Amino acid sequence: MKRQRCTLGPAVIFFLAVLACAGAADRPDFSGKWVFNAARSKLQIPVPQSSTFLIEHREPAFHLSRTHVYDGKGDTFAIDLSSDGRERVIREGPQVLHCRLYWEGTRLVFHTRIEMDGKEALNVVQYELSADGLTFTAHESFRGPKLKYDNVWVFDRAQPEVRAVPVSEKVFMLDGLAGAGNVAFLVTGEGVLVVDGGASPADGRVICEKVREKTDKPIRLVALTHYHGDHIFGLQSFPADALVIAQQNMTKNILRYTERIQSERQQLPARIAALEAALGKLGRGKKVLRQKEEEDLARAREQYAFYQQLRIVQPHLTFDNKLSFRFGGEPVEIIHLGPAHTDDSSLVYFPGQKVIHMGDMLFNRHHPYIDRRAGSNTANWIAALQEAQNWPLEKVIPGHGPLAGKEALAEQARYLTDLRAAVSAAMQKGLTLEQAKKEVTLPAWLDLGFPGVLPMAVEAVYRELERE
Ligand SMILES: [Zn+2]
Repeated sequence: MKRQRCTLGPAVIFFLAVLACAGAADRPDFSGKWVFNAARSKLQIPVPQSSTFLIEHREPAFHLSRTHVYDGKGDTFAIDLSSDGRERVIREGPQVLHCRLYWEGTRLVFHTRIEMDGKEALNVVQYELSADGLTFTAHESFRGPKLKYDNVWVFDRAQPEVRAVPVSEKVFMLDGLAGAGNVAFLVTGEGVLVVDGGASPADGRVICEKVREKTDKPIRLVALTHYHGDHIFGLQSFPADALVIAQQNMTKNILRYTERIQSERQQLPARIAALEAALGKLGRGKKVLRQKEEEDLARAREQYAFYQQLRIVQPHLTFDNKLSFRFGGEPVEIIHLGPAHTDDSSLVYFPGQKVIHMGDMLFNRHHPYIDRRAGSNTANWIAALQEAQNWPLEKVIPGHGPLAGKEALAEQARYLTDLRAAVSAAMQKGLTLEQAKKEVTLPAWLDLGFPGVLPMAVEAVYRELERE
């Protein structure tokens, strides 16, 4: 799968986007747990180690509790407000705070006049929610007799709890790492082998944390199932001395991918400027037009911020068809059965545990993404799935979707066989590629997730069958 921009699945993102806009763009709901994003914030005051906002917002009631952590010490401020602009007076030691909350368009303004020793200061914070509901920005301006600063605080919606679920005696799978390919790890007396690296540097940090909860042994090996960002963009957060292993085609795939990302990143500032200019010209009135432009702008800014922090890690050790070794007494086999989902697709097999990580050669209960540009091959993919069914296996970890048994391999092979048959039939009827993308719907597989990737899968198979 291509990397999902956010931590939630595409359907959820769409749903959230619709929800966030459906509030007539007037009254967004700020409720949620929000985690400070230091990389994207611009502060003129010391940057806290961490900060969390908890907001319960039932318009007009607004409960806010924020905790800044400086030098390991938490400082919590909590307040109940109403967005009707009514003033609340709070005494905090020698200070008297006159607080008001009111709407300014889609922004909620938290206005505080602070009195102390006969002097006054003004703190005005504008809260803003991104169109997809995943980013919360607080534009703060403080004006006091001696002190003056302007801050932009950026917070991300807190991710659902991630858990390391036991798959076998020594293998765990991470559950709840939304938007990323499935991550698993093998714990041995000599250290930990992790399979895949998550979809973002933040995912990488979570993975390391979850490993630490299970063992004090270090992460020494990382096996990658293929080059897609939702499987490798967390690697920069792994220990620098962990050896990253992948099939040899990954090197060229990552180089090409990195070039594409660089050119996208270079184009983003111009695109952001163009969107800002377009919004400026639209003026305040054109709400429907503004909404789309604002969403595009938020997305472009988010993408740019993501690329700015991203550092792509190349594999340190590559192999051709198979790499077998023992790690902490456990046999490990990393196997490339030829091109499948990509031309660098690997299976990571733990024969002693009877567990396999299939990478994206298995999309369990989801339509598979087929990466034509990276040399996918569905005929060979089906053959590889058939071969893996001959191996001693009890648990099968898919690239996406829930933990499975061996039967999921047969189901994936059946899906790909159906897809090839449907595309072949469309071609025999003389349908063009564009017609086939519309007509091939696979009625037997309507209940699968990621339905949006089906036209791409049809295109990949169409091109493959043209070559056959
Ligand atoms: Zn993939």
